Amino acid sequence: MFTIKGKTTDWELVIGLETHIEVLSESKLFSGASADYNPTIAPNTQVSMVDCAMPGMLPVLNEYCVEQAIKFGLGINADITRHSRFARKQYFYPDLPQGYQISQPADQPPVVGRGWVEIIGDDGNPKKIFIERAHLEQDAGKLKHDMHPTKSFADYNRTGVALLEIVTFLDVKNPENNSYISSPDEAERYLREIREIARALGVSKANMEEGSMRADVNVSVRPVGSTEFRTRTETKNMVSFKFIKSAIEYEARRQIEIYENGGTVSQDTMRYNQGDGTTSVMRSKEDALDYRYFPDPDLLPLEISDETIERIRRTMPELPAATRARYIGEWGLNEYDAARLTENTDISAWFDAAVGGVIARAKPIANWMISELFAHPENWDEKNSEPQSQSDNGPRIIRPGDLAELVDMIAQNTVNGKQAKEIFIKMLDGENGTPREIAEKFGMQQITDTGAIEQAVNDVIAANPAQVEQYRGGKTGLLGFFVGNVMKATGGKANPAVVNEILRKKLG
Ligand code: ADP
Ligand code: MG
Repeated sequence: MFTIKGKTTDWELVIGLETHIEVLSESKLFSGASADYNPTIAPNTQVSMVDCAMPGMLPVLNEYCVEQAIKFGLGINADITRHSRFARKQYFYPDLPQGYQISQPADQPPVVGRGWVEIIGDDGNPKKIFIERAHLEQDAGKLKHDMHPTKSFADYNRTGVALLEIVTFLDVKNPENNSYISSPDEAERYLREIREIARALGVSKANMEEGSMRADVNVSVRPVGSTEFRTRTETKNMVSFKFIKSAIEYEARRQIEIYENGGTVSQDTMRYNQGDGTTSVMRSKEDALDYRYFPDPDLLPLEISDETIERIRRTMPELPAATRARYIGEWGLNEYDAARLTENTDISAWFDAAVGGVIARAKPIANWMISELFAHPENWDEKNSEPQSQSDNGPRIIRPGDLAELVDMIAQNTVNGKQAKEIFIKMLDGENGTPREIAEKFGMQQITDTGAIEQAVNDVIAANPAQVEQYRGGKTGLLGFFVGNVMKATGGKANPAVVNEILRKKLG
């Protein structure tokens, strides 16, 4: 368990995350304007009358966004709510032309109810993180304060784009019945899992750098062994794993210090200061806004049928947790390799394509990918898992078929490990052709012909009588010396296993 040492007691952390992911859809949640707001698009060119709240304009719910929410809900093992509503959350801010955000507030059923995801906990075992809800709401626009000394600018391209807010669960009334995030590392693993589920389902790009994934971080602390939950603070709008972990730790230490000095933590909303890794109060609970929620009179209640849910369920792809289980359970990979190869679905698709259902290839291909390919992004396009489609332009791209052939050649003793590495390096250097073709072109076939190897062994033994005597006198560590010399004599082409065997026999 992750704890922080205090003056008189150890403290544990209770963490709740509210994660926003931008829903992938052609158009916005309630208007037909394009939902693509990327920074290369000119400001305020993707804004409909609805988005900028022209009087009399009516929102129309984008059903595809609802389907995306349902898909995500099924991906986090959640209950899908059959009847839910949208409500208006009223507040004034220049990035929100309507003067209210259409959302599904916490006191009303959200489209996605209780669910869970599984992460690897700090103790190395799988741990469920309970999720309370996921609801649909509108995103706001973007304000730009750095373009003019005295003016701010508003870009409404993002206004009205659908967001899915995913809230982790804490059963405050039943402290015993909980499974929540309890360390900075678990927070990161949870967010990565959410990201991979969203990407695997095509629900969101869930990219923190691009702002399509953001999180509000709730933190409280309590003495180890205590069962009640204490007051938490909420740090808003975090956009990097690193900052999230640093904010959690800073906030926990700050609260511990308050308790140790006899104070009480107040339920404040904090901001994180990137410069020095501290948090500071943005607003206190006393200034909490009254949003005057009420059901949006322009929108019908959201009704979802069992048929819709079943239709979507049938389209669900394998999710990262299931892929990991398959790699470990059926293909014999370890947890670490399985985690690396499911970091995103492009990587797992590439790996699947390379293995091609041949289980014996799985481990060696996993090794090549993790230790070699990941280090050479210029020669590897994880998005392209076409087995063979070598183009003649640009740097040589290594395909799943290349790696499959290479590990097959090792398995069939066509080349040894050292030669395979040379072939791989030639591919990195831009050599075209398949590994077999490269091996042929450079005469890198492994010598497995025992006659040729025996000849080389005889020569090496004859040339090193002193070492032979020492070996026979008990200095068996010299075997490596003989193997090395035989390999040298065969230009590195001999099969090392055969060399070992013959040497042992002849040296007796
Ligand atoms: P709000 O509506 O004020 O945002 P919620 O009840 O929806 O508050 O909770 C927001 C998040 O804070 C949830 O993920 C919840 O699990 C978490 N949370 C609630 N109480 C605590 C606590 N005492 N310590 C840490 N996290 C908490
Ligand atoms: Mg909140």
